[in-house]
Amino acid sequence: MYYGFDVGGTKIEFGAFNEKLERVATERVATPGDDYDKLVDTIVGIIQKADNDLGCEGLVGIGLPGMEDARDGSVLTSNIPAAKGRFLRKDLEAKLGRTVTIDNDANCFALSEAWDESLQGEKSVLGLILGTGFGGGLVFDGHVFSGMNHVAGELGHTRMPIDAWFSLGEKAPLFTCGCDNKGCIDNYLSGRGFEQLYAHYYGENLKAIEIIKLHATGEAKAVEHVDRFMEMLAICLANIFTGLDPHVVVLGGGLSNFELLYQELPKRVAKHLLSVSQVPKIVKAKHGDAGGVRGAAFLNIKK
Ligand SMILES: [Zn+2]
Repeated sequence: MYYGFDVGGTKIEFGAFNEKLERVATERVATPGDDYDKLVDTIVGIIQKADNDLGCEGLVGIGLPGMEDARDGSVLTSNIPAAKGRFLRKDLEAKLGRTVTIDNDANCFALSEAWDESLQGEKSVLGLILGTGFGGGLVFDGHVFSGMNHVAGELGHTRMPIDAWFSLGEKAPLFTCGCDNKGCIDNYLSGRGFEQLYAHYYGENLKAIEIIKLHATGEAKAVEHVDRFMEMLAICLANIFTGLDPHVVVLGGGLSNFELLYQELPKRVAKHLLSVSQVPKIVKAKHGDAGGVRGAAFLNIKK
C-alpha cells in the first residue's frame, strides 16, 4: 500500500493507494500552525490508523511546498512554519520504524500525472504549474529527478530568455522576484504574471479569468495581451524543452484551464526549437487538487 501526504500551509491531506494505484482511503486535517510535535504526531496518527484499518504497513511519501536541504535533510519551507528547519523525515522514521520519503509538491504533481494511465508508457514527463507561481518537476522512467540540491524543476527561477524579453516590446517590465533576482520567469509565466503583465500594459488590475473572458469576446486589449503572452510563453517553453527534451508536458495550475494554450503552444513553440526537434505532446493535468497526494504516495513506487 502506498501512503501519500500533501502537507500544505493550512491542511494536510492523506490518501492510501493500492497496488493498482486506486485510492482506498482519504483523510483531511488542519495543519498544526507552528507546533512541530503536533505536526509529527498528526502524521504518525494517520499512518497508524491506516495501518490498522487496511491491515498493512504502508510506504510513506510526503509532498510539501518546499524541499529537504540536500546537505542535512532539514526542511526548507516558508509556508509551513511548524516544519521549517526541522528534520521531519528523520523524526517520522524514528517514530514509525520505517523509511519515509519527502519531496517537493511540484515534483509530486508531475509524478502523479506521469503515473496516470494515459502517460505510464512515456519515458519522461515534464509537469509545469502555471498557478500563483511557475514551476514544475521532471519525471524520468516513473521517478522524480530532483537533482543534487533538490532544485531540479524550479524553472520559475531561471531568467527570461533574451528573445522572450524582446517579444514583450519596448515597454517590457523588469519584475523583481521573491528570490531577489530580476527577470525570473516565475513573475511572467504564472497566473500572477499573466495578471501583472496586463496591469503593466493597460493600467487595470483584472483577474486572469476576467482577462480570458474579455479575450473570448474579442476585446482588443485582451486579444493583444493574450497574443503577447502566448508568444513569450512559447519562447520560454521552447528554451526549457531544448534543455530537457521531455516526451510529454503536462500543464497544471489555474491558467492551465485556458484551452487556447493547447492550440497555440504547439504552433508557437515549434518556431523556437532547434530544427531537429519536434514539439512534445502538451496536455492538461487530469488529477487537479488530488495530484499532490497521489504524487506523494507514488514517490515509493519501485519500477
Ligand atoms: Zn526567482
